[in-house]
Amino acid sequence: MNDTDTIHPPATDPASPIITMDQVVKRFGEATVLDHLDFQVAKGEKVTIIGPSGSGKSTVLRILMTLETINEGMIYVGGQPLWHEIQNGQPVPAGEAHLRAMRKQMGMVFQQFNLFPHMTVLRNITESPIHVLGLSKDKATRRARKYLELVGMTEHAEKFPSQLSGGQQQRVAIARALAMHPSIMLFDEPTSALDPELVGEVLTVIKRLSEEHDLTMLLVTHEMEFARQFSDRVCFFDKGVIVEQGPPEEIFTEPKVERTREFLKNVV
Ligand code: ADP
Ligand code: MG
Repeated sequence: MNDTDTIHPPATDPASPIITMDQVVKRFGEATVLDHLDFQVAKGEKVTIIGPSGSGKSTVLRILMTLETINEGMIYVGGQPLWHEIQNGQPVPAGEAHLRAMRKQMGMVFQQFNLFPHMTVLRNITESPIHVLGLSKDKATRRARKYLELVGMTEHAEKFPSQLSGGQQQRVAIARALAMHPSIMLFDEPTSALDPELVGEVLTVIKRLSEEHDLTMLLVTHEMEFARQFSDRVCFFDKGVIVEQGPPEEIFTEPKVERTREFLKNVV
């Protein structure tokens, strides 16, 4: 039986996972980057993904954001298949309209901020709510100001990205993602490109978000102390699978698997 035949009806139970990755395989040419990965995230859960470079961490987030396709397996977001849609009772590869609708549930923050350089901070944030969600300019501006306040960037609304520090740019990138009202936020090493003295301000914003909002959050980071405070669960990835996962106090203080111990010995 083909993997894609094992489709389940949309979940309606609020206790069911908001994200389910079921035996997901991702290959780049000859290389198998995700190797029959099973991964679930509960609604509102804060999950940190750790692991060596090349273990597939970014690929997981990029697949959820629909920036990469998958080769095998199924993914469900909010109870609906992400990469498939149902036609005549059969799963078929998702079309662009389905992907667009699914993508709206997720916001992503990248290592390299990725702000639009030719737009002011305010316009960076209002652009997608206006053009993708169809908000009026007024409503999008009010929304943008609300999230600028949340990330402590209110007084920089009229500046261009090049006039801001890396930490400030990343806080704008977070506000921009939030302004789309996603239910899931994906952070891919959001502080790795920052000078050490700017890391704290970005982590503070992420921590505040996790405490004050009912968002589901997936964070890839090497900031282990932060992961310990932030996470409900830590997943250690290696070679495209989850080698070990559990509450942070368990993973960081008494990892059961030798590979996890080796990794943590070298990063902490
Ligand atoms: P991580 O984020 O854990 O460092 P990635 O998910 O970025 O790892 O990458 C996992 C593996 O997939 C790496 O070996 C990487 O070189 C490879 N890879 C990622 N993206 C591509 C791509 N677009 N084309 C070819 N190989 C890729
Ligand atoms: Mg990466």
